Amino acid sequence: MKRAIYPGSFDPITFGHMDIIERSSKMFDEIIVAVLNNSQKNSLFSVDERVTIIKDLTKNYANVKVMSFEGLLVDFADQVDANIIIRGLRAVTDFEYEIQIAQTNHVENPKLDTVFLTTSLNYAYLSSSVVREFASYGGDISKFVPEEIIPLIVEKYKK
Ligand code: ADP
Repeated sequence: MKRAIYPGSFDPITFGHMDIIERSSKMFDEIIVAVLNNSQKNSLFSVDERVTIIKDLTKNYANVKVMSFEGLLVDFADQVDANIIIRGLRAVTDFEYEIQIAQTNHVENPKLDTVFLTTSLNYAYLSSSVVREFASYGGDISKFVPEEIIPLIVEKYKK
């Protein structure tokens, strides 16, 4: 059983993330989308909100689960018995940071390997922070995130 974790902040989830979830769900037996519970970070959505949103958006993928986690990813991987981590790479700017984390995780737990999927060209520019920036100024985010969550994002910025 190849169980892989796809960790991230997903604040909010974008088409770029959805693309990685879809592609990796075909490569592994089970994908756990793991939403990082980082209490220091000033987030748009709470962790529970993000988990609920992603569960809803992935309900048609039979082998995708959504959970939240705190602390070290290597410990979470141990808890759920997964030995693959999936990360998306958009540009060289992602690379330096990602390779460092991947190598650190591998040293911490040699059974754990990180698999990188290159972003689809049409989403290469896309990040949660760009979505937040656009949404905060009332911009059109329909090309960035699934339709269902647009009202939820708009609502957050009304407050
Ligand atoms: P983090 O805060 O851990 O970087 P993110 O939610 O921003 O979390 O991203 C989670 C993962 O998804 C990361 O591996 C990131 O590189 C990847 N990712 C983000 N946006 C895209 C995109 N547009 N295309 C492909 N991968 C992406």
